[in-house]
Amino acid sequence: LIKDEIRKIIHVDMDAFYASVEQMDDETLKGKPIAVGGSKERGVVAAASYEARKFGVKSAMSSKMAAIKCPELIFVKPRFKRYKEISTQIQNIFLDYTHLVEPLSLDEAYLDVTRNKKGIPYATDIAIEIKKRIKTEVGLTASAGVSINKFLAKVASDYKKPDGLFVIKPHQVEKFVEQLGIEKFFGVGKVTREKMNQLGIFKGKDLKKFSKVELKHYFGKSGEYFFNIAYGLDTREVNPNRIRKSIGAENTFSEDLKTKKEVRTFLKPIVEECWRRAENANITAATACIKIKYEDFTQITRSKTIPTAIETFDELENIVSNIIEEIELEKNVRLLGCSLSNFVNQRTEAKQLTLYL
Ligand SMILES: [Mg+2]
Repeated sequence: LIKDEIRKIIHVDMDAFYASVEQMDDETLKGKPIAVGGSKERGVVAAASYEARKFGVKSAMSSKMAAIKCPELIFVKPRFKRYKEISTQIQNIFLDYTHLVEPLSLDEAYLDVTRNKKGIPYATDIAIEIKKRIKTEVGLTASAGVSINKFLAKVASDYKKPDGLFVIKPHQVEKFVEQLGIEKFFGVGKVTREKMNQLGIFKGKDLKKFSKVELKHYFGKSGEYFFNIAYGLDTREVNPNRIRKSIGAENTFSEDLKTKKEVRTFLKPIVEECWRRAENANITAATACIKIKYEDFTQITRSKTIPTAIETFDELENIVSNIIEEIELEKNVRLLGCSLSNFVNQRTEAKQLTLYL
């Protein structure tokens, strides 16, 4: 198959990270349903404690909806500086084992421990040790997935959450992927799932009924990825220097949008998700971009760059609103996207430094 040695990849994902940090730092929040981000009136939930999840509260849910689902829900203001601080502490634990650490956000990362600094032969032992150290040195729980590639390691870390450890050994890969629901595949959202279901694809094994060409025909570029994943193949390397140029969110609608009013309404949660992701990755940007894909698959993008940085969500909402104002819709809309680019991460620190000087 591949002549290279079998890789040992770990995916570590903190459990309800922001919420757990708040509960750790504030005794009165322990054991209670809390939501980080938003308020009873407006905004989005960035993270929910496990107590809140029991009521159906989830991240990216409007806080209004969250408050309906769980009336005792306590809303807590996010403290990204603190999350970043703990994230660095966790990264430093990872770096004791390998320099091949690729963070995906403040609370999750891939580690390639095939050749690790401590010469530990089993990746599972490393995962156990890392979990233990995060617990004792940081005070939080993490879930870890261990397998031969990124895709499987990430699926595995989600399998036994919270405080979980799940290992997919090389000889188990094929059976595991065959029984895996396609909604667990990274990159399969609601629209893709529905399309797959219509084609009779519900589990990994169903993907194998299709050739690579067929899957490419139905799902474009992602088709090839789905084909490979069905056979447990994912050659993406753990890249410690991955530089992201933009961050964003988008959504394809099951029914095309016809008016600007609809566009505004449906764009709102996308902009919120975009902002949440940027915050999560600790990114500040100067450019906001809106993408509109029409029913005939032609697309337009409109962006606006401001001289300083987009520092608050309200600022972003304003910019987006102005962009939309200036767009003349040509056809019905099937997809909307919002992204941030032109990162200016050091800006706030630079500003503070100037203040001190
Ligand atoms: Mg997490």
